[in-house]
Amino acid sequence: LPRVVIVGRPNVGKSSLFNRVLGERRAIVEDEPGTTRDRLEADVEWLDRRFRLIDTGGYETNEQNVYAPLIMGQVQQAIDTAAVIIFVVDARDGLTASDYDMAEVVRRAQKPTILVANKADNEARELAGIAEASALGFGEPLPVSALHDVNVRTMLDMVVALLPDIPLVPESDRTRVAIIGRPNVGKSMLVNAILGQERVIVSHVAGTTRDAIDTEIDTPEGSFVLIDTAGVRRPGKLGTGVERHSVLRTTRAVERCDVAVLVVDGTEGVTAQDTHIAGIAVENAKGLVIAVNKIDLWDDPAERKAWAERQMRSRIRFVPWALYTFISALERRGLSELLQLVQAAREARRRRIPTPELNAVLARAIREHVPPLVHNKRFKLFYATQAGIDPPTFVLFVNDPELVHFSYRRYLERAIREAADFEGTAIKLVFRARS
Ligand code: GDP
Repeated sequence: LPRVVIVGRPNVGKSSLFNRVLGERRAIVEDEPGTTRDRLEADVEWLDRRFRLIDTGGYETNEQNVYAPLIMGQVQQAIDTAAVIIFVVDARDGLTASDYDMAEVVRRAQKPTILVANKADNEARELAGIAEASALGFGEPLPVSALHDVNVRTMLDMVVALLPDIPLVPESDRTRVAIIGRPNVGKSMLVNAILGQERVIVSHVAGTTRDAIDTEIDTPEGSFVLIDTAGVRRPGKLGTGVERHSVLRTTRAVERCDVAVLVVDGTEGVTAQDTHIAGIAVENAKGLVIAVNKIDLWDDPAERKAWAERQMRSRIRFVPWALYTFISALERRGLSELLQLVQAAREARRRRIPTPELNAVLARAIREHVPPLVHNKRFKLFYATQAGIDPPTFVLFVNDPELVHFSYRRYLERAIREAADFEGTAIKLVFRARS
């Protein structure tokens, strides 16, 4: 089960919050016979998701303070295994040095973090701790009251929103690459060119479906699985039927890949069909590298290159983040650069922005360009966190997701992209309402 860890300096109410969750009517708590009254962990089910909740307040004793090395060691261990951290501060007291120390520990963990200001029993906005807590770098705190049951459900909603979709299974280190493109652009020749290189070891053909042939290869640029849609031929069929079938085949290959390589014909430029196929990679939130092929046929390479770049900028402009390179499958030119770009896109898919940096970047972007009014209301961001990788996925807690205009969403996406290098991959922004 993913672990959700409650941390904070002594006396902020960690254990009260823990017990309030356990007492929450809608939360199903696993009964563990034989556990004592002061349990530190419990399995919780909320909105059909299960997680284990850990109360680090239980490590504290009356004699020791939280900075006793033994306790900090336990807290650190809990944080290391956490999928989500609930960081508790006191809404009524201002921040103390201990809060800042704890913030530093949480910051280093680089995990999705929910900052809550407990003891917000009433008039939350006037409480000193709430205004000050924004300075900790985790966005605005969610005011909660463990005692009076304020916003505890919202907190659990937020926890569930940040749980990883799938258990984080260790992934194979091979980059899965789908070679896609319309007919006759040179996909087969490219696959053969890659496989035929001297330093490439074809370790095994992993699986052959009706849609594609998977081949595992090891190269100086890294280890890959090539998902080759061109390898499967259906002879004797022509016309729109074939076209429809190949879109389906492309989609299935893209779904199984990390990075799609879109092969385009450098003598013809970027066609509407190429644009459409690029869209399949974008819709599936994959990495995308464009390989402009057949450059051996270019009479004036410099001029043609500029022409191809102009075409990509205008016809694939909805993917400004796509990487591209120029190749000749026939002469086996540019293959190493292509594989390097594929690896770069894969790395971008695994990149994380620490929560404080993400919030700083978004706060600055919003300051520089105030969101437009929608139905007389303005979009407000409480805080954001990166919930996952592959693709990098960001959850933004806002007053009302309906208030995020399409173009403003694009603007925020650009701000996130500029903050970290996500060139080569799609990223996902998820907007969620927070009261
Ligand atoms: P696919 O349908 O995308 O798999 O395309 P193929 O690999 O079958 O290639 C289509 C045609 O383009 C064939 O006649 C190839 O010989 C030719 N071709 C592929 N790559 C290159 C290249 O880099 N240079 C040149 N001059 N011809 C190429």
